[in-house]
Amino acid sequence: MSYPGPVDQGITQQRLSLGWQNVLDLVFPRSCRSCELPLSQSAPRKGLKAWLCQPCMDHLDPIQAPYCDRCGEPFSGPMTRAFLCSNCDGRRLAFDFAVSGYKAHGPMRELIHQFKYGKDISLRAVLAAALEAGLNDPRLEQTDLSEWLLVPVPMHYFRQMKRGFNQSWELCRMLHETTGIPTASVLRRTRQTSTQARLHRKQRLENLRGVFALRRSFPWSTQPVLKGKKILLVDDVLTTGATAHECAKVLKREAEAEKVVVITAARG
Ligand SMILES: [Zn+2]
Ligand SMILES: [Zn+2]
Repeated sequence: MSYPGPVDQGITQQRLSLGWQNVLDLVFPRSCRSCELPLSQSAPRKGLKAWLCQPCMDHLDPIQAPYCDRCGEPFSGPMTRAFLCSNCDGRRLAFDFAVSGYKAHGPMRELIHQFKYGKDISLRAVLAAALEAGLNDPRLEQTDLSEWLLVPVPMHYFRQMKRGFNQSWELCRMLHETTGIPTASVLRRTRQTSTQARLHRKQRLENLRGVFALRRSFPWSTQPVLKGKKILLVDDVLTTGATAHECAKVLKREAEAEKVVVITAARG
């Protein structure tokens, strides 16, 4: 896999010498973002282990093969060739495939909950590190990601006002910082929808029909050309894939994007 590389953001943690990082650790000791116990000084500076202690890491469930070729739902048991899960088999999905870092339970579920509903924006770096694990998917590893675009799932204006931020956009920005892949907020929500959490798959699809559209270009803000582009659609969690499907539909049918791959921190 190749991508443009980290964005130079001035004095970042990566640019500080190890000596200075150790001094900073003494003054501001790092602690686990899940259980709040102190992190060991030898804890890595990058990736999820820079944010979570080993016992919390041990409680995470990374998405590992074999998994559904379309939605990434892991399957326990030996599987020697590509397969579709019962949810995806026979279902027309607009995105090409979905990759996720971890299963959405245990500490990962708590972190996402705290990020979204606890409005703790500082967790975006932790969840972006979880999301980045999805880039290790073999189908992306063989790709030159510098030609791709990171696109967030849009939030309705009123809901974003209430939360203070759009979690997908924040994850996009963090992923852009570590990979250099350009971001483009090209989608908008045309109306507010009731929360998806308690709805079944069919209800979710009904609830979301026609809810996404392309942002318009204005003389002062031109939207990038998406025709023939490859897009990584970024979100925090993938559950039924209904949201991702609706977004991908607009990106492919209206904007004529060539490919849409969904990347999320967790898989519900
Ligand atoms: Zn911990
Ligand atoms: Zn599936």
